[in-house]
Amino acid sequence: MTHTIASVHPLYLSAPAAVDLVRRKGLKHCIAAIADNIHADFLRWNDFDKSARVANHSRDGVIELMPISDDTAYSFKYVNGHPKNTALGLSTVMAFGVLADVATGAPTLVSELTLTTAMRTAATSALAAKTLARPDSRVMALIGNGAQSEFQAIAFQHLVGITTLRLYDIDPAATAKLVANLAGSGLKLEVCASTREAVLGADIVTTVTADKTCATVLSADMLAPGMHINAVGGDCPGKTELTADVLHAAKVFVEFAPQSRIEGDIQQMPADFEVTELWEVFAGQKAGRDNAAQITVFDSVGFALEDYAALRFMHAAALEAGLGERLALIPALADPKNLFGTLLQQQGSPSRQPEAVLA
Ligand code: NAD
Repeated sequence: MTHTIASVHPLYLSAPAAVDLVRRKGLKHCIAAIADNIHADFLRWNDFDKSARVANHSRDGVIELMPISDDTAYSFKYVNGHPKNTALGLSTVMAFGVLADVATGAPTLVSELTLTTAMRTAATSALAAKTLARPDSRVMALIGNGAQSEFQAIAFQHLVGITTLRLYDIDPAATAKLVANLAGSGLKLEVCASTREAVLGADIVTTVTADKTCATVLSADMLAPGMHINAVGGDCPGKTELTADVLHAAKVFVEFAPQSRIEGDIQQMPADFEVTELWEVFAGQKAGRDNAAQITVFDSVGFALEDYAALRFMHAAALEAGLGERLALIPALADPKNLFGTLLQQQGSPSRQPEAVLA
């Protein structure tokens, strides 16, 4: 069978094209649609070939590959985490990824995933909070006001019903940036002088800080009955935000336990520390919050299925909007067995004899 150019050449969604897409659709809409996809895909948990991500650690950061597939589509994400990058003018988290057709292995989408990661992380956090936080939660402390933070704020406003944010970052300029970005959001923004002050009166606490150390962002003496903790920033070995006593005080939920035990805040806990996977709660197989006074923790690290779900959304939305371009990543061969022939024929150049190529 001869493949058409379109089927051999994947769609390429660049960072500017993704920005264009999100501006056309609206950020709220994109986060909500990605959340719907994540929820639907988590309900198909057992359809997926899952593994903990492959991480290459170095002194200042980590580079990770995150693959997953079901019987029709495969995806992977390349993502880094380098907390010192912002001082160099680079993002802490940078990512791109691929969707591919399982039947042939042909890539169907090559996409930016830096903006998309922020949306899918916020979507996952909000989905978890919708299930685990007290339904009357209106006030959220947002600790860490960097690249991810506005996306978390918008997701919690529109999917969870948060109306007030209590903000803290060790870098006041980061908080000022968030306040400027969200000035027209309708959220009440309260700038605080410390994490302890920010969590006072909060129903939900989101920690989304970046530091490659076992940090003490939140300790048990800051907790109040009924709080939900959305712990996003502790996501690789030696990088945590919660003290062990927070985890002891709470019912803890994770994405994919084999990965979270290595990378999450629960890396501090014994291997048999009890956790519930989020999909089990979505599927009604396990209970979420047991009572209004219970403290719940979503120990988020980011799982490949969330990127698979987000890539599905970006692919469909880009096709619908006519955004992106075809990427000549894979040779389009008239005879798939004649790869050598591409060296003899090149568009815009005269044909060559095999001897000329071999010379
Ligand atoms: P960023 O560097 O843009 O922002 C992090 C902010 O945290 C900075 O403004 C920094 O000043 C602040 N900070 C550091 N230590 C702090 C402390 N002790 N108290 C208060 N603020 C502190 O990074 P980002 O892209 O926003 O990512 C934030 C974190 O989230 C990173 O650790 C990243 O690895 C993680 N992350 C997790 C997921 C997930 O799925 N769980 C996804 C994306 C990013």
